[in-house]
Parts: sequence; C-alpha cells; structure tokens
Amino acid sequence: MSEATPAHAPSPVEPLDEHNRTLLENVHPASWINPEPAPRYHMVVIGGGTAGLVSAAGAAGLGARVALIERHLMGGDCLNVGCVPSKGMIRASRAWQDAREAGERFGGPAVDARSTGDFGAAMERMRRLRAGISIHDSASRFQGLGVDVFLGGGRFTSPETIEVGGKTLRFRRAVVATGGRAAVPPIPGLAEAGYLTNETVFNLTELPNRLVVIGAGPIGCEMAQSFARFGTRVTLLDKDAHVLIREDPDAAEIVQKALLKDGVHLELNVKILEVRGQGTEKAEKVVVFERGGERREVVADHVLVAAGRAPNVEGLGLEAAGVKFSRHGVEVDDRLRTSNSRIYACGDVATRYQFTHTADAQARIVIQNALFRGRSKASALTIPWCTYTAPEVAHVGLTEKDAREKGLELDTVTVQLSTVDRAILDGADEGFLRLHLKKGTDQILGGTLVAEHAGDMIGELCLAITHGIGLGKIASVIHPYPTQGEVLKKAADAWRRTKLTPVVRKVFAGWFRVFR
Ligand SMILES: Cc1cc2nc3c(=O)[nH]c(=O)nc-3n(C[C@H](O)[C@H](O)[C@H](O)COP(=O)(O)OP(=O)(O)OC[C@H]3O[C@@H](n4cnc5c(N)ncnc54)[C@H](O)[C@@H]3O)c2cc1C
Repeated sequence: MSEATPAHAPSPVEPLDEHNRTLLENVHPASWINPEPAPRYHMVVIGGGTAGLVSAAGAAGLGARVALIERHLMGGDCLNVGCVPSKGMIRASRAWQDAREAGERFGGPAVDARSTGDFGAAMERMRRLRAGISIHDSASRFQGLGVDVFLGGGRFTSPETIEVGGKTLRFRRAVVATGGRAAVPPIPGLAEAGYLTNETVFNLTELPNRLVVIGAGPIGCEMAQSFARFGTRVTLLDKDAHVLIREDPDAAEIVQKALLKDGVHLELNVKILEVRGQGTEKAEKVVVFERGGERREVVADHVLVAAGRAPNVEGLGLEAAGVKFSRHGVEVDDRLRTSNSRIYACGDVATRYQFTHTADAQARIVIQNALFRGRSKASALTIPWCTYTAPEVAHVGLTEKDAREKGLELDTVTVQLSTVDRAILDGADEGFLRLHLKKGTDQILGGTLVAEHAGDMIGELCLAITHGIGLGKIASVIHPYPTQGEVLKKAADAWRRTKLTPVVRKVFAGWFRVFR
C-alpha cells in the first residue's frame, strides 16, 4: 500500500447548537494556539483518541516531556462519533420501546405500538451528555496535565521528526494512534447518491422515515435496532447468512430474532449491485441488491454504511519514518513496536480488537515499552467485548473456533437465562451463558453471555480468566439473590455436578448406608 491516497477528511460536527459548541470548545477550541515545541520530546503522540490520550496523559504523569497532535477532535471516535453518542441513542430508544411495551407486558399505561416520540429531543439529550463528558478529553485539560497539545494534522518528515502546523517536533519515541474510519465498500453509485457513516449519523436531528443499514456487524446491528425502536423503517443488509458473524451462532440468532421483533427488515446473503438517487433532488436512495439470484430494491431516505473499518494510515509520512503498514493498519510486533524501533502504534490503527478498552490497555503497554524498555506483550491481554443490542452480547477469551484452531479440547457448560429467577422476573430471559473450559479442568478459556446487561455482567468472567480463577472457586462465591449475575454461579454449580461421577456416587451411597 502506498501513501499516495490522500488523508481522510473528517466530517464537521452539526448542528452548531450550544451543546456542540461546548463540545468543540473542549475538543477543538477555535482560539487554540499551538505551543512552541520543546527542543526534543520524550514522546510525541499522533492522534488524540483513546489510545493517544492515554499514552500522552500516562507518559506526562510519569514526568516525560510529551506532545500530542490531533487534527480534528480530541477524544477521537469514542467520544465524538462512536461509543458515547451511540450508547446515548441506544438508551433513549430503549426507553421508547419500554414505554410501548409497558401496557402489554407489565399492565402499565397503554401506549400505541406505532407511536413515536421526539427524536430531536432524544438527540439533543445525547449531544448535551456528550458535551458534558467531553471535558475529560479537552485540550485544556491535557495542557493542564503537562502535555503540549498541537491541533493540526501530524506527519513524519524523517525517522525522528514530525511536522504539525509548520512546526517540527523532534522525538525520542513516537506513537501512532490515528485510529480508523468507516470502510466504504466500492458499490457503484453509492458515493454519488450520498450516505451516512458513524461520522455523520449522530448529526441527525430528524428521524428518517426509512433507513438502509449496510453491514450487520456490531455497529450495524446496534444502529438498526436503535432506529427501529425510534420508529424508522429499517432494512439491514449483509452479505453473510446471519448477523454478528463473529459471535457464537446461538448468540447471533437471539439478536437476529430481537431485531426482527423490533421491526427491522433483514436481507441476508445479499450482494449490493448499486445505489442511485431518485425523486426531488435525488433525495431518495434506491439500494439495488441480489439475493438468491433475484434482483431486489429497497428505497430509503438515508443509507448508513457500517461495513467494517479502515485504518488511518494515509498522509502520515509513514514511509519517511520507515514504518511499515498495509491496508490492515500499521504493522507492530507483540510489544507494539513498529518497523522503526523508536516508533510504536496502538489502538484501532494497529489492532483487530477495535475497542476503546483495547486502545486504553495497549497505550499502557506502549508507555512501559517505549519509555522504560519494558517487555509487556499485547498478546497477554484478555480482551472482552460487547455488542450493545437488546439483549447485549458480551464475550471474553477464546471462542470455540479459536480453541479448535489452537487444537485445544474443551468442555462446554451452557446455562439458559430462563433458569435464572431474576431474568424471568425482569422479562429478559432470552439469553444464556456459555463457558468453554480446558477439557477435564475448571480453567475457563472463554465465555459468551447474552443478557440484557451482558456488558456489565461479563466483568466477573474477565477477572476469572485474567487471573486464572477456576470455575471451582467461583462455585464457592456467594452471589446476591435474585440477580441475573447468578447465572455464573449456576454455571459453576452445573460444572460441579459433572464431577459427580458414578464412582463418586457409589462412595456417597456407601457413606449414606452407614451414616444413619
Ligand atoms: C459507532 C461506533 C460505536 C462504537 N462503540 C464502541 C463501544 O461501545 N465500546 C468500545 O469499546 N468501542 C466502541 N467503538 C470503537 C471505539 O470507538 C474505538 O475502538 C476507539 O475509538 C479507538 O480509539 P483510537 O484512539 O485507537 O482511535 P480513534 O478514536 O479513531 O482516534 C484517532 C484520532 O487520531 C486522529 N488523527 C488521525 N490522523 C491524524 C493525523 N495525521 N494527525 C493528527 N491526528 C490524527 C483522529 O482525528 C482521531 O481523533 C465504537 C466505534 C464506532 C464507530
């Protein structure tokens, strides 16, 4: 891959109301004046998303002289166009859905199943909360932490220098933390017809009547369900045979059913042939696709592209710095060092585990390895993830497929949420916990949890896997009743029952014959 491709131009933040003005005042103040560079920095970080912010704050906190360069919005995708706005939207759409279901399911006030609310107000709530959170990632806060913050595009000009805004920064170590963006598939007519991505969808102030979402991965499923719950007629398209292709198929099936129940129209196994504009000012988008040899069309007001991510490697001067990269991102070794031993990379630009918590954890590794000759390895991290659909799907450790590829033999324990009292009482018993254990032992290698709040509940499993706490020990932990978290204890009890072999049963039978 060559750097000839121009750097991706980020989209503006809209609407410019008081909340977004506060956001911008924090994450890209118009009046910001870049500092005079120090003669040499211990660390220069390019990219002010989670990976860059954690690298810069951590290094400065330890006393290093640090510069941080951000071309667009401090906080990166997570704060501005990712986790934060999406979870704000998801919360609002859940409230709407709960209100609609209250009458039928809980004897609450009857609300018409088709009734909709004030989408503009829901989005304003999201913008207000995002602006409030943004203070943590603000340029002035980082300045206060002792970081020299440069707003502008950074590019390497040699293996030890970076240019930003006409100034040259010399470094002992540099960190590439430039993240990624939505990958846009080469569908004929898509660019001309216009489309939304995660960079623009959160700018909406009016609810689309009809939305086509391309891609049924985590972002596509979260957004499709959320818009459907707001009242949009959503069509979700994917080339694969089911949604969430990387998850346990039973988990994906539950989410697929939940999407259908919420009114999402699913078109799977499709090949998208073209997108074209039609109607007044070509405002309507016609998405033409093929399924099972049949040509079909769906018309929408917007098309949201959620078909994977592309790393931000263009226009960075990586070649001048001797840093190898490809269309998959910057190449790093297990210590997150690039082909230039002074330069490290972390976060979405350098990993396939594209989550905020990975960016954070990798940045901590970079600080140790780059500044203190540490030997921490990225492969040693236990990385969980969660898709925030209703129900949520959370996973940590090995999947069954990973284990098979590694030639590991497994024992698997599955507990349905329909056996957990609290899940039944909550009306949220569509789900399960599945644990993969190293065969013949209680060592947990991986687990998938499908539950209303799976993301919150998976923490205990993360602790167990990270610190080698076996299922036997979990069986001895008292969990409060009634909670959905009891599902893990139930899994431990189920595993313990498998220890009751015929021989053990015989021994017990003998004991109870004499113990009268
Ligand atoms: C819709 C959506 C929802 C998501 N939800 C979740 C979730 O719920 N949980 C979760 O864990 N993860 C979620 N993610 C993923 C998460 O946002 C990313 O994993 C995380 O933001 C990665 O952080 P990063 O620092 O590597 O990159 P980014 O956040 O992308 O930050 C990179 C920064 O580098 C800047 N930059 C790029 N090039 C240059 C340059 N040349 N000079 C200066 N600056 C530059 C960019 O402007 C950007 O600010 C979601 C993502 C999306 C899109």
